[in-house]
Amino acid sequence: MKYLFFSIVIFFNCGPNVPDFDEDVAFDYLLAQCEFGPRNPGSDGYYAALDFMITELEKYADEVILQDFSYQEQRFKRKYDLTNVIARFNPDSAFQTMISCHWDTRPWADQEENRQDRNQPIIGANDGASGVAVLLELARIMAETPPPIGVNLVMFDGEDMGIPGENETYCQGSRFFAKYLPIPMPYEAINLDMVGDKQLHLPIEKYSLEFHPELVRYLWKRASKMGLDAFDMTPQYAIYDDHVPLYTIAGIPAIDLIDFKYPNPYANFWHTMDDVPENCSEESLNQVGRLMVDYIYNRENQNW
Ligand SMILES: [Zn+2]
Repeated sequence: MKYLFFSIVIFFNCGPNVPDFDEDVAFDYLLAQCEFGPRNPGSDGYYAALDFMITELEKYADEVILQDFSYQEQRFKRKYDLTNVIARFNPDSAFQTMISCHWDTRPWADQEENRQDRNQPIIGANDGASGVAVLLELARIMAETPPPIGVNLVMFDGEDMGIPGENETYCQGSRFFAKYLPIPMPYEAINLDMVGDKQLHLPIEKYSLEFHPELVRYLWKRASKMGLDAFDMTPQYAIYDDHVPLYTIAGIPAIDLIDFKYPNPYANFWHTMDDVPENCSEESLNQVGRLMVDYIYNRENQNW
C-alpha cells in the first residue's frame, strides 16, 4: 500500500500540465502574415505585419519590448529603420530562456530560375512567416498556462537582406540584439527558421551541435520519444543563421531548428517566388510547436 501511494505521488509530480499546440491557430498566423504581402523592410506588408505582431503579443505577454535600430542595406545602399520585437513571459523567474525567429522577408527572389523575377520580393511563407506563426501560438498558450520558467520570444528584423557569400550582411536583428541585450542574459536560445515546409526534415544543424550539444541532444531525443518524425538525429549542414551572432557576440549557447532543403534535396523554393503557403503545412508547424511547448513546460526539470 505504501509503495502504491509513493508511485502515485511520483506520477503526479512527474511533469506539469503540458498544454496543446493548436496547429490551426498557428497556420492561420502564417496565412495572416502572407496576406499582408511581402514583408521586406520598408514595404507596406512590413508595417502591417509589425502592427499585427505587436497587437497579438500585447494581448498575451507580460511585457513587450521594441528594440529599434537602423541598417544600411549593402546591395542598393539604402538605409532602413528596423525593429526587433521581444515578448516576455514570467520575467521574474531566475531561469530565463529565449525562442527566436526572424519576421522580415527577403526583398529579392534571387534564387529564382526565372531572371525577370529575381528582383521581386518573396512572400516568405516558410522563410519568415513559419517561425513567427509558431512563436505567436506559443504566446497564446503561455498567456493561458503561465510557463514555469522565464520565456522571451524574440522576433528579429533584418535577417534576410544580405548579399550571398557575405555572412556579415545577414542577421542584422540578432547582431544588434546580441550587442545590446534588451533583456537579462538568457541561459540558452532556440532559433526557428524555415519550419513550415510541407516535407519537413530537420537534421541537426552543425553550429548548434558546437554551441550547445546538450540542448541539441535533449531536444532531438525528446522529439524521437514524442514520435515527431520530421526530426532526424544526423548532423547535416552548418547554416549561418540568427543563432550564430547570439553565440559569437553575446555568448548565449544557441541552436537553430532549420530545414534548409525546401522542399527536398532535389528542388529549391528557398528565396524564390514559390515560397508560398501552399508549400507549407499545419502538420509541420505542429511538430516544431509541440516540441517547443514540451521544452517550455519541462525544461526546469532537466539538469545537464
Ligand atoms: Zn531567407
